[in-house]
Amino acid sequence: MTRRTLIAGNWKMNGLADGLGFFAEIAPAVAKADADVLVCPPATLLRDAARLAAPHGVRVGGQDCHAATSGAHTGDISAAMLRDAGASHVIVGHSERRADHGESDGDVLAKAEAALAAGVTPIICVGETREEREAGQAAAVVARQLAGSLPVVSPGMELVIAYEPVWAIGTGLTASVEDVAAMHDAIRDQLPEPLTTCILYGGSVKPDNAAELLALADVDGALVGGASLNPLDFMAIIKAVSRKSEPLR
Ligand code: PEP
Repeated sequence: MTRRTLIAGNWKMNGLADGLGFFAEIAPAVAKADADVLVCPPATLLRDAARLAAPHGVRVGGQDCHAATSGAHTGDISAAMLRDAGASHVIVGHSERRADHGESDGDVLAKAEAALAAGVTPIICVGETREEREAGQAAAVVARQLAGSLPVVSPGMELVIAYEPVWAIGTGLTASVEDVAAMHDAIRDQLPEPLTTCILYGGSVKPDNAAELLALADVDGALVGGASLNPLDFMAIIKAVSRKSEPLR
């Protein structure tokens, strides 16, 4: 059994319809990569992105979902709506959602459960702040976030974890390979399905650091923000997937 590497792009609140030539641009790298490639555009682009990405073997995902299936939640989007628009995955608990919208681990759990119920794979984000790392609390914080936001998974359901140290997101700073390796190892030990659950690293993954991060045994891919907006950078990260299929430990 193997975990297939996943390179996921998070466009955040960036992108207009005239940028959807992106998928054709990255197609040559996707065609050669032994990895799944996912792009999470803003919701306004999701349906068109799904249509344009599919011929190139790229999947699309949402950046957030509401925990309810429908109802009086102005401005929100349900997991079923994301799926209806073509999403295979949805990011939940991104640190920007946790910070900007006060999302708790319980909120993230409810969203992850809603995603699974809708047939959408949740990418559950966890990660410590700079203050928490400096206080020696990184492992405890991530363990607490995981404990509070991991849904019970039935056979056949998939989920993905993204370890994203908050201080590394959008800052150009990355965790050391030693720290990433240790955190991914600790996360895997806490997972109900450790052998088959992908753990992504996120936090300023760029063409020049992707290879060493992706080479780590417990790093099953990357969640890429800024560098996923540039097709050349994103292609370089896809090309950095040197590990074709990681034997399970
Ligand atoms: C992210 O948004 O999840 C992220 C990791 O961003 P960046 O790659 O820009 O740090």
